[in-house]
Amino acid sequence: MKDIATAGRTKQILDDHGFSFKKSLGQNFLIDLNVIREVLDKSEIHEKTGVIEVGPGIGSLTEQLARRAGKVAAFEIDQRLVPVLADTLSPYSNVTVINQDILKADIRDAIDTHFSECNEVVVVANLPYYITTPILMNFLEQDLPIARYYVMMQKEVGERISAGPNSKSYGSLSIAIDYYTEARVIRQVPKTVFMPPPNVDSIIVEMVKRESGKVDVDDENLFFRLTRGAFGQRRKTILNNYMSVFEDGKKHKDSVRRLLEAAGIDPRRRGESISIEEYADIYHRLKNFPE
Ligand code: SAM
Repeated sequence: MKDIATAGRTKQILDDHGFSFKKSLGQNFLIDLNVIREVLDKSEIHEKTGVIEVGPGIGSLTEQLARRAGKVAAFEIDQRLVPVLADTLSPYSNVTVINQDILKADIRDAIDTHFSECNEVVVVANLPYYITTPILMNFLEQDLPIARYYVMMQKEVGERISAGPNSKSYGSLSIAIDYYTEARVIRQVPKTVFMPPPNVDSIIVEMVKRESGKVDVDDENLFFRLTRGAFGQRRKTILNNYMSVFEDGKKHKDSVRRLLEAAGIDPRRRGESISIEEYADIYHRLKNFPE
């Protein structure tokens, strides 16, 4: 049988099952084996790896994962794909399809249930682009035992994820991802490898989970409130942006200015010029504010 991730077999499967794409679910299926193989080689998954896939579609990537990994647990929201996957993945006994919204699923429970014989867990996914950031933050904020992530996403989001200070793409998402992981772009991907081709360009990003947060903060919620707040309006200074982060911020402008200066930050700087380490310094000065 031909691989699923080819234009010919994909068309055949869609015809056989009378399946029509739902744009609202970000359904763009991979029809290029080279891209998949390149990512899987980089991911170094092996027969003791448990893989979580988000959105298996008709199983293009799932099939290749099943051939290399110990077990695959694939979360698919679209119920219409359940019988399709039962058909296309029938040769693989190490795949479980879970018909759930990944944002509502109990991922920790799935790891415990399906990967007890694996010695590492890795996420591999061609993500539904409309919810890339919520999916990634949902995984990372839960501090799950997941070692690495290999994810296809819209190019602009991939650039934001891997950006450093003083670049156009750097923002609170770059900082949040950098806090939890070491991220790098693996490759850009042309629209032609998908059926149907998406309207946007794509990029594959690797994220390797850090043992602990990159900087030492005990209240992550507050830390991320401060990093997000600094980018409230990109053209404003950090001091002015912080006026709307705190209750009665304007009243406390002078104290916030002094605390920023005490952290070694010129209050006229903009959020985009400040590194994660500097944000940690700001956090330590501002964490008990106002008291
Ligand atoms: N992995 C397949 C491939 O590469 O050909 C399909 C990828 S397609 C870009 C995204 C998939 O995610 C679709 O199958 C879609 O139905 C599914 N999806 C969308 N939203 C989802 C959600 N909230 N939870 C789980 N799956 C979702």
